[in-house]
Amino acid sequence: MKYVIIGNSAAGIGAVEGIRQIDRQGEITVITDEAHHTYSRPLISYLLYGKVTEEKMKYRGDNFYSDNNVKLKKSVSVTKIDADKKHAVLSNGDNVPYDKLLVASGSSPFVPPFEGLDTVKEKVTFMSLDDARKLDEMITKKKDAKVLIIGAGLIGLKCAEGIIKRVSKITVVDLAPRILSSILDEEGAAIVQNHIEKQGLDFLLKGSVKKFDGNSAVLESGETIRFDILVLAVGVRPNTSLLKDIADIDRGIIVNGKSETSAKDIYAAGDCTQTLDVSSGQIKIMALLPNAYMQGECAGINMAVSQQAVSQQAVSEKTFDRAIPMNAIGFFDLHVITAGNYTGDVYQGAGNSGLVTKDQVSYKKLFYSDNKLNGYILIGDIEKAGIYTSLIRERTPLDSIDFSLVCEKPGLMAFTKEERMVKLGGRVS
Ligand SMILES: Cc1cc2nc3c(=O)[nH]c(=O)nc-3n(C[C@H](O)[C@H](O)[C@H](O)COP(=O)(O)OP(=O)(O)OC[C@H]3O[C@@H](n4cnc5c(N)ncnc54)[C@H](O)[C@@H]3O)c2cc1C
Repeated sequence: MKYVIIGNSAAGIGAVEGIRQIDRQGEITVITDEAHHTYSRPLISYLLYGKVTEEKMKYRGDNFYSDNNVKLKKSVSVTKIDADKKHAVLSNGDNVPYDKLLVASGSSPFVPPFEGLDTVKEKVTFMSLDDARKLDEMITKKKDAKVLIIGAGLIGLKCAEGIIKRVSKITVVDLAPRILSSILDEEGAAIVQNHIEKQGLDFLLKGSVKKFDGNSAVLESGETIRFDILVLAVGVRPNTSLLKDIADIDRGIIVNGKSETSAKDIYAAGDCTQTLDVSSGQIKIMALLPNAYMQGECAGINMAVSQQAVSQQAVSEKTFDRAIPMNAIGFFDLHVITAGNYTGDVYQGAGNSGLVTKDQVSYKKLFYSDNKLNGYILIGDIEKAGIYTSLIRERTPLDSIDFSLVCEKPGLMAFTKEERMVKLGGRVS
């Protein structure tokens, strides 16, 4: 049995571990165009900050590939999948045959075609370890650099946090009227923005770059911003092109709950796919590490199980059907956790009105309708957020718990005795 996995990150590693739960013998080849051992992508900003080393960023230990009997092909990309001949074509001209193939190719930074972008010498996107190394080199070389970041989303702000202590000025420009616009509401975004501004960052919201001219950005408003280094963090796009004309693709690769694509023996997982968000019932791209891992693991199990079924060994398939959008992030020691979607009635936390007290921030909003919790935003006090996440993921009927208690004080005591037993891993008698 030959398994081929394209991508050596969360989804690809999840797949290796999924396959090995079922099949210890099959041949696994992991192919990546990056030059590195598997690493945790969200940690690239912490590397610049100095909180982690490259060694500590490893997503799995040094012996991962040998322990799992995996052949790793680094620094080579898959240029084509030949679904008829069942092999992947590599940039070095080799063909790698497969029985089961997983596309775990993630996403790539989207760079809008800004006028004059080619005149900017020191520019970088912020998605990979190589990007982080490049930025590190730029800020080491240019002392007291002025940095312009385009994009006030998660990636742009994590980048800002990573370099703030090493540069003289950071300006963040975004078209949207608020920061983190895809995960925070207006009030929540204002709290986080206020906190970040106190660290010395400048925001130019509702701002749009008209053109670049060397080290200057001219905004639509006519304002000109001078900078030494430009970081492009506008957004990401799923890497779907390998399956063009082979499988169904929408905004991301379309997969079912078993991570199968519409093409025979080809699976897909992670940021390159679109999946069902159980909190809204909508199909979405949820570019999140835990989702990527779980979906990859599910794909791996199913790739192996489909083969085992042929050899008459009874093992079960797995479905990945509990995905929700979720973010657990920190900005300059302020914790933010959000999950689900923000529709329905709103419960506001008691501390919300005062926005930010001197040292403590506490902001809570819960969104619910039709007897279900749909989503939440927690800023500052994020304790027991897992209770809310589980209510959303499991679609727990709110009348089966003491919801008003859960709103105020999330805790197991708000659940019935039976539910508490299940959540604590016990059995219901
Ligand atoms: C700065 C930053 C901060 C983040 N913070 C968080 C966070 O706080 N929480 C969270 O949940 N998520 C966070 N994320 C997102 C998270 O990193 C991704 O959801 C996760 O890495 C997705 O894993 P993946 O395996 O699907 O894809 P990726 O991690 O994108 O890996 C895909 C791999 O496939 C390779 N590849 C693609 N095409 C080919 C090809 N043709 N041939 C060979 N190799 C190929 C790519 O180079 C890449 O190495 C963050 C991301 C960034 C950049």
